Amino acid sequence: MITRTSDGVQAIAAHTPNADWQTQLREVIRDPATLLDALSLPHDLLAGARGGHAQFSVRVPRAYLNRMTPGDRDDPLLRQVLPLTQETDSVTGFVTDPLAEADHTPRAGLIHKYAGRVLLIASAGCAINCRYCFRRHFPYEDHTPSMTEWQETLDYLRNDTSITEAILSGGDPLVSSDRRLAWLCEALAEIPHLRRLRIHTRLPVVIPDRINEALLEWLGNTRLQRVMVLHINHPREIDEHVSAACQRLRQVGVTLLNQSVLLRHVNDSVDTLAELSERLFEVGIQPYYLHVLDAVAGAAHFDVPDDEARSLVARLRTRVSGFLVPRLVREIPEEASKTPL
Ligand SMILES: *Cc1c(COP(=O)(O)O)cnc(C)c1O
Ligand code: SF4
Repeated sequence: MITRTSDGVQAIAAHTPNADWQTQLREVIRDPATLLDALSLPHDLLAGARGGHAQFSVRVPRAYLNRMTPGDRDDPLLRQVLPLTQETDSVTGFVTDPLAEADHTPRAGLIHKYAGRVLLIASAGCAINCRYCFRRHFPYEDHTPSMTEWQETLDYLRNDTSITEAILSGGDPLVSSDRRLAWLCEALAEIPHLRRLRIHTRLPVVIPDRINEALLEWLGNTRLQRVMVLHINHPREIDEHVSAACQRLRQVGVTLLNQSVLLRHVNDSVDTLAELSERLFEVGIQPYYLHVLDAVAGAAHFDVPDDEARSLVARLRTRVSGFLVPRLVREIPEEASKTPL
């Protein structure tokens, strides 16, 4: 298929099924027109997409696109990645840094807000750009650590024996090369008081081929306990490739958890949430958090009011096993943990 890319260049946009993950990452869809064409959707959606795209560009891996239904403009996966007109509306209470993270950054690329664990911004970018992302306005450029900054981050961890868990976040940490991640993992394992390595990532979901031999090698052989927190919002995001990636991770001893965001017209029904929990567990992932939306500018149209969120989870509890009910939480900037609703 020949399509026009955002810079007007004619490009071959065919999906290469067996391309390695780096190639798939390079070939992500980066503009609304290509996205609509790939799904045989009309260009009347294009005008509305431009403003949002200019703020936070479209980014969709082909492996994720393949799970969408062509011709369905209301597809719950498409809604997570296609900018709508409402993104450029200014809505009271929806701001650019809702979590005030700028105030909790003792070193570039390090956020120490909660006891016992620190969040390391291990990479600047993501494989996918989710429209509701609370980091859509985040100044990532200031948070791509150089080698010197990594040394400072490691010193910070070495000097604070209360820290038992290092959380790699981003962006998406698994966008980084395995060489870099293996180096980091080794350096972290040398800090005696660290017990766990946690990785917050959406890559195994959006490009399952990311879970390759090299990754399983460094992740499978560290002395640290390993937890991977995935981000899946809808049961249709889990296809056989995601399921296989999860199986490979579990085989090397990684505990898999999932966090979702409650999103209007994506997963705001008991049926969808119940099926999501069932599917997650089927492929070996334990539901962990269901986040209410962070009030980030551009995402107000995804908001589900607190009362409705509570009622959805109360009804979910009557439908599925207790361990399949995620904790409904909100992140409040000054609190020492996520806040249950
Ligand atoms: C969410 C978050 C964590 C992890 O919190 P858990 O409740 O342990 O999952 C850690 N640090 C920061 C800054 C966070 O936002
Ligand atoms: S994968 Fe996570 S960090 Fe990246 S855009 Fe989506 S929500 Fe944001």
